[in-house]
Amino acid sequence: MPLHIPTPLIESRPLSLSAGRPVWLKLEALQPCGSFKLRGVGHACETHHARGALHFVSSSGGNAGLAVAYAGRKLGVPVTVVVPETTTERAKELLRLEDASVVVRGSSWQEANEHAQTLLGAGDAFIHPFDDPLLWTGHASMIDEVAQAGCKPDAVVLSVGGGGLLRGVVEGLQRNGWQDVPVMAVETAGAASLHAAMAAGRTVELPGITSVATSLGAKRVAEQALACTRQHPVVSHLVSDREALDACERLLRDHRLLVEPACGAALALLEHPEAVAAFGNVLVIVCGGATATLEQIRAWREAC
Ligand SMILES: *Cc1c(COP(=O)(O)O)cnc(C)c1O
Repeated sequence: MPLHIPTPLIESRPLSLSAGRPVWLKLEALQPCGSFKLRGVGHACETHHARGALHFVSSSGGNAGLAVAYAGRKLGVPVTVVVPETTTERAKELLRLEDASVVVRGSSWQEANEHAQTLLGAGDAFIHPFDDPLLWTGHASMIDEVAQAGCKPDAVVLSVGGGGLLRGVVEGLQRNGWQDVPVMAVETAGAASLHAAMAAGRTVELPGITSVATSLGAKRVAEQALACTRQHPVVSHLVSDREALDACERLLRDHRLLVEPACGAALALLEHPEAVAAFGNVLVIVCGGATATLEQIRAWREAC
């Protein structure tokens, strides 16, 4: 049994009516640790466990770290998550609920990650948040489930941080013979590392992240995320933080689900009629996110 669960695929009546076409939601927010990350991270952790790993290390204070903590608890493998001082109390509390040891180190993710690397000894496995083929193969299972449901989309909408979700969904489309299904890759304007890479023709490091969609905040995308935009139809789109936050509130109202702005970004594309006008069935990956609260989303919304 894999660590992730098969998730519901629902046709959203409110979103279909306003977008003028059938909108299908793949509800990855319902994974036990709150995001799609468990698919890839679960697959990576199970693979390392089978190879004899005795300890998992992560440097993500977000959904990737939570997925490693969940996977470790389920497999009986201890987990250490190194997070920077900027990590919220809420995120640290969620990690401790999964029995992970939380080490706070450094003022940025880079510093926390450097410290995490120094902890790695024999028998330890480092689980990357987005740049690992094991993750992509695991993420691809969400597209297998859509294919099994017999619903071929005309476009897939998803959000992009470091590009692991994008790379995994492309792998899933290709392994199901859906090479012709384009992917709309959405980022918030303050976290647009894929957009910058596609414009430059190579991965580039953003000077900083200025978006509230913290789970999209990889300053540089994985090389393989950029590479897959050359092997598969991928269109880059940008939305504002305000649009992403409004989409979170709308999903809560329409479907009683609370997600992070990182996920609101993908949903916000539906409010751009020209972006989806060419397609019939649109599939949105509702990637989820466990760390934001409604109070936080409202406070961010007030501030923008
Ligand atoms: C990790 C994450 C993303 C981005 O995924 P990448 O693989 O980094 O592109 C988007 N939304 C949520 C909720 C996430 O946790």
